[in-house]
Amino acid sequence: MSALETSVRPGSASAPGLGSTVELRGVVRDFGGGAGLAGLSLSARPGELIALLGPSGCGKTTALRALAGLERVDAGSILIDGEDVTDQPTNRRDLGMVFQSYSLFPHLTAGQNVEFGLRMRRVATVDRRRRAAEALELVGLDHHADRYAHQLSGGQQQRVALARALVTRPRVLLLDEPLSALDAKVRVQLRDEIRRIQTELGITTFFVTHDQEEALAVADRVAVMRAGDIEQIGEPEELYRRPVSAFVAEFVGLTNRVPGVVAAGELTVFGMRVPLVSPSADGPVTVYLRPEDVLFTGEAGTGTGVSALSGVVLTTSFLGALRRTRVRLDDGTELAVQHETRNAPAQGERIHLSLAGTPVTVGVAPQD
Ligand code: ATP
Repeated sequence: MSALETSVRPGSASAPGLGSTVELRGVVRDFGGGAGLAGLSLSARPGELIALLGPSGCGKTTALRALAGLERVDAGSILIDGEDVTDQPTNRRDLGMVFQSYSLFPHLTAGQNVEFGLRMRRVATVDRRRRAAEALELVGLDHHADRYAHQLSGGQQQRVALARALVTRPRVLLLDEPLSALDAKVRVQLRDEIRRIQTELGITTFFVTHDQEEALAVADRVAVMRAGDIEQIGEPEELYRRPVSAFVAEFVGLTNRVPGVVAAGELTVFGMRVPLVSPSADGPVTVYLRPEDVLFTGEAGTGTGVSALSGVVLTTSFLGALRRTRVRLDDGTELAVQHETRNAPAQGERIHLSLAGTPVTVGVAPQD
């Protein structure tokens, strides 16, 4: 149990493991011109981490700001623990927030930054110091309490911002692209750290990101947003394996887009019959094949598919744990294949491919 947990009031709404429910009901924010929120509905379970994922301008930040009370809502309501907070100001909603840009006060030390919210709440000095120290310990920065922002790395500054958001024991944590200013390695470290702390505290959390890998890695459920509404919400694997639309299939994970035909509940792609994952009406469809579901086979006609495909290697890239190879099939279709690094086909080499025995259609949609 962390130090911060031990200090949480027993029986309080923010006690560890209890978490809060959060509900957005048909939330509309009309900026004119169609942007904003278009009747967004979303429920978070206690202690759940929901990632809001989507392309730039889809309304992720607006949704978070509406939740925080920083953005006026034109219609709909927002409930925390069943209480309607739609008309409550931000400081009455009991939230912790971390933003993309480091928002530490430059003239205060890390410790003083973390204490700030408690000072505003007139918490006694001794208590304040203890709680700030506990929060800094939680994020692994207890030895840096006396440093100023300019003496901390970007990752450390975001840790302090996280400690500052958590020290007031908020009911809900809102994170708006908290990692996007950090370099790749620190990003992954801090992402894992946020997840550990969030799970440990059992705090209901919304995490805005446009990075699909980050969303899949960190969230209990991912809400893919499009034009101010949710296109699909689900567990990471469900989104990856069963996207409900072409938009989700193309936004979440790398994918090959190829033509297929559905007839009598069966899908045929490249002349092979493959399992149909999503129900689809008969007719031509767009099929999404994940690169890891395309396999190299030794010779033409072998492999798990009914017949194998042939093509020529265009490029192949070593990515450390795996290799990604682009192949041009004999019919001109280009496919990305993800495979073990042991098999390293040469550029220009003729190779044979098959589709994996497991379902390979991660989504079907009417062809454009
Ligand atoms: P990004 O990933 O680029 O931050 P986002 O998904 O967070 O994008 P929002 O910032 O929520 O998107 O913006 C959603 C839409 O609403 C955009 O089209 C944006 O231009 C518009 N918008 C946001 N705030 C305002 C505002 N104050 N006035 C007018 N339009 C706004």
